[in-house]
Amino acid sequence: MPEIVSGAPLSQARLNGAQQAAVEYPGEPLLVIAGAGSGKTLTIAHRVARLMAQGVDPDRILLLTFSRRAAEDMVRRAARLLKHSLPSIPGVLPWAGTFHGVGARLLRLYAARIGLEPGFTIHDREDAADLLDLARQERGLADGKRRFPRKHTCLAIYSAMMNTGAPLARVLQDAFPWCAAWETELTGLFLAYTDAKAAQGVLDYDDLLLYWAQMMDDGALAGEVGARFEHVLVDEYQDTNALQGRILFGLKPDGRGLTVVGDDAQSIYAFRGARVRNILEFPQRFDPPAKVMLLEQNFRSTQPILAAANGVMSLAAERYSKALWSDRPSDERPRLVTVQDEVAQAQCVIQEILAHREGGMTLRAQAVLFRSAQHSALLEMELIRHNIPFVKYGGLRFLDAAHVKDVLAVLRWAENPRDRVAGLRVLKLLPGVGHQTAVRPLDCVVARADVAGGLQDQPPPSRGQAAWGRFLALMTALRCATAIWPRDISLVVAWYAVHLGRLYDDAPARQADLDQLTQIAAVHPSRRQFLTELTLDPPAAISGESGAPARDEDYLTLSTIHSAKGQEWRAVYLLNAVDGCLPSDMATGRQDEIEEERRLLYVAMTRARDHLQIVVPQRFFVTHQAARGDRHVYAGRTRFIPESLLGLFDVVAWPPAPVADAPPDPGTGAVVADMRARIRSLLERGGA
Ligand code: ATP
Ligand code: MG
Repeated sequence: MPEIVSGAPLSQARLNGAQQAAVEYPGEPLLVIAGAGSGKTLTIAHRVARLMAQGVDPDRILLLTFSRRAAEDMVRRAARLLKHSLPSIPGVLPWAGTFHGVGARLLRLYAARIGLEPGFTIHDREDAADLLDLARQERGLADGKRRFPRKHTCLAIYSAMMNTGAPLARVLQDAFPWCAAWETELTGLFLAYTDAKAAQGVLDYDDLLLYWAQMMDDGALAGEVGARFEHVLVDEYQDTNALQGRILFGLKPDGRGLTVVGDDAQSIYAFRGARVRNILEFPQRFDPPAKVMLLEQNFRSTQPILAAANGVMSLAAERYSKALWSDRPSDERPRLVTVQDEVAQAQCVIQEILAHREGGMTLRAQAVLFRSAQHSALLEMELIRHNIPFVKYGGLRFLDAAHVKDVLAVLRWAENPRDRVAGLRVLKLLPGVGHQTAVRPLDCVVARADVAGGLQDQPPPSRGQAAWGRFLALMTALRCATAIWPRDISLVVAWYAVHLGRLYDDAPARQADLDQLTQIAAVHPSRRQFLTELTLDPPAAISGESGAPARDEDYLTLSTIHSAKGQEWRAVYLLNAVDGCLPSDMATGRQDEIEEERRLLYVAMTRARDHLQIVVPQRFFVTHQAARGDRHVYAGRTRFIPESLLGLFDVVAWPPAPVADAPPDPGTGAVVADMRARIRSLLERGGA
């Protein structure tokens, strides 16, 4: 097997001394803990390439990343390195992906051994909430007389319990105190939900980790699965939760073969059960303790951007040990731009984006970041008006659009006839079938575990007999075990086209989305694989809003800060740097929540390579205020950039003329309200 020796092409790839040492460190467990942009991800990519160059079978390398997109990037990087040095080694890594994606694959492989049906289907968060809702209705908890938590809150509570392993009472007390009175009912509901999943052969996202972790508690199985992988490498380790920790230590109990990298200052997923303790306590979990390596040079950002980001973190309640420096000098400090309102914010950002593009910077090199998905709504309208193509990450996605979910539900039901959420959604698409009339046929299908067989015996609805007949023919065609892929999806889309016009006003736009879905389906080998991968981690091309531009086009990125993790752009614009948005007013309660919001600002700022612009609108238009009607409210600059840090920024107003602090002109309210209505209708088009 080819051996990489020091000085061979791989090590030429411009790593600095500390990075090189981390890549070449000969043993594990190994923890690389370092600040943003210090090359942690690059180091992992090099380490993977090096392992492959040393002859480790790629099939025996498990690479766990935060998103599928991140995994693809990393594999590409490793492949490039290998091509450079050892062109004969294929740069593929079959086991690179997210914890959830890899979990799903392993569970299918070991299903028979652990008592799981290999044909299970996976519910995304929306479907999981719907199934919880069915259970909630069956238990009389949704009668409207009492203010029982809504389905998404129920799911959030359930998910917090599963991911932290904490008892319900504690989860309620810590994170959902307003639901504490419902502890008994919630316990019953969660049991019913668990039973329903088992009966229907479905797993939700949390189950993928739970079952995998459970599998790792079985000594023999853990040994077997652990032995599959000679090396396990994890990026963004600071955002793993207790379950993910259990999985890793189950796979590699003595730490041999285990490499993790992360940054405690970028831990931003505590709200989903991630615990920064995982990374801080990592070394001591082993005897002898894991090797810890630090990287201190930031290669991404200019010195002034880094100084401002470090300034923000210097005010954190917790201390972070890393002193990052950059040797990329620049005269340009990050800009802190005050604008009158969100309309001006959108105009200001667009002007700046276009100016950069004029100067030769592609749209792809630029990104607009925000704390919550809805913060970009106004900007999106303006971008469309200016014909600036964009892709949005986080928030409403192509796959959440109702028509896409309809088509996927048909395929899911064909795949797993016991999936009641899918079945109910599909039946209700048919004319003459409502929630009540769907129950009997649904029961019948579930009992026979066969859609076409179960429906055949049912009387068609009195209105819509022809449609019922066509639906039966479709499900019969989809039933055959040797279903031909991707013919199945073409059949479903053709069938659905008839209903599309009846169900929605804007059928042509939706049809275009479905054509795109059909194309994506064609690259997957089977129906089951298509459904699994799409549910877990859709390819980047369709994570954005419907109508995402083609791959080769130049487009701007819009992203929540959470979804921007690990990425970088030459120019970054951060919207709504005001208290109430960042920190989010959902989180202004506890100190630890506030600290997580501060780290979010740090993550956002450290995405920028050359230009950073932070926008502070002075007032917001608030709608749906029952007591006081729609009105403007005044906002203050985020508390994370107090006076003492202003020297690190170029503080300007836009437009350059001084912004009047006068009370709002009543006429403006109507314009903005109108704009809001348009946005709402745009968003609702995709709503489930
Ligand atoms: P984050 O904390 O945001 O995940 P990271 O520590 O993973 O960041 P990388 O994304 O690996 O950092 O690297 C940041 C940028 O710096 C990338 O553009 C990378 O190519 C570049 N970089 C890293 N190391 C070097 C180096 N030694 N020489 C030149 N550029 C480098
Ligand atoms: Mg990284």
